[in-house]
Amino acid sequence: MDRRALLKSLLLGSLFAELTDEAEAKRHPVILRIRYSSTEARTRIVLDCTHTVLRKSIKEKFKRNILWLDLNGVGAVRKLKRYLKSPLVKEVEVIPISYRRTKVKIVFKEPHRFKIFGLKSCGRRPFRIVIDVFPEFVTTECKVRKTPQRVVVIDPGHGGKDPGAVWPVRSKHPKIEEKWITLSIGLKVRKYLKKNPDIKVVMTRTRDVYVPLLKRAEIAAKSCADAFVSIHADSMPRYPQWSGVTVFKASPRLFAKAENTAKAVAKNVRLCNDVMCWSISPLLINLATTVTFAESSKLAEAIVQSLKAHVNDELINGIKDMYRNILVLKTPGRPAVLIESGFMTNPLDRKRLVKDWYQDEIAKGIAQGIERYIQSLNTVAMVEE
Ligand SMILES: [Zn+2]
Repeated sequence: MDRRALLKSLLLGSLFAELTDEAEAKRHPVILRIRYSSTEARTRIVLDCTHTVLRKSIKEKFKRNILWLDLNGVGAVRKLKRYLKSPLVKEVEVIPISYRRTKVKIVFKEPHRFKIFGLKSCGRRPFRIVIDVFPEFVTTECKVRKTPQRVVVIDPGHGGKDPGAVWPVRSKHPKIEEKWITLSIGLKVRKYLKKNPDIKVVMTRTRDVYVPLLKRAEIAAKSCADAFVSIHADSMPRYPQWSGVTVFKASPRLFAKAENTAKAVAKNVRLCNDVMCWSISPLLINLATTVTFAESSKLAEAIVQSLKAHVNDELINGIKDMYRNILVLKTPGRPAVLIESGFMTNPLDRKRLVKDWYQDEIAKGIAQGIERYIQSLNTVAMVEE
């Protein structure tokens, strides 16, 4: 080979090497960005990639609330990090190890279930690696009751980053926030119920903290609650004349659909709403919902009757069926009511709701109603024996 040929081959060789590198790089998928969406029921993390990533090239490892993905043959544009506004996931980090190997670190808030899959590129959308994170199921069974007492769960609505209804409406710096009213009334209810040795009180929160709905339902399920009482304050900006206390119970209609599904398939079904899922047998769902509706009505009735002794009659709106999809009212087997203790959009209610004496009267009414209901449970149990 003469010098010219050698030079030529060297040049060509290097050129060829460069070309193959580029082609290689083009064929190798590269992670471009992290995106996500989040609801109470699911957090979806999406990694946009330049090319298809095979599932077998993703190895996963879950340790101490961290899900590690080791992606072989996959690069990343650079180190990427995102903090998530999600009830399930704290942060996601894409760490390039080499240009053909990348690690992804996903930090969960608690151990959760997850699913990893790919979505083919379609139109302008590139190939996507999707990591769905779901909360653990809330089971309907409670662990064996540890105490001979009846368990009552008091659930002061909202808290922490969720202020609930505010006054003035839509204000960034409101003078009144629902979360404080509900907490104050809730703690007072506890104070009164604690005097009764037959009742054990469990609170979903005792401070200004955010408790996800799922967690509240879980507290009710785990503590084998005999009654679940959620406390709120209403807001109806379009109807400032509306006022007074309203006690809500779940409408049987809410359950009808799920029950039919369970009957149709005649085996365990997963019952899901926007926030959670239960695995439940048709027999159990039938039993649980029938008992729950009858018992919830009794509980609501007892609370309304007692409230009448403490708050002016005309301020009691009575019992209403809740058609909205309120999770806490739908925990199977757990009699539950939701109390709207007044309307923050009504000038008179608003004045009363922030007053200690008024909160106290409402709390007394609620507590006595619960006691009445619990007493009726104990009486029935004795007759059965
Ligand atoms: Zn509320």
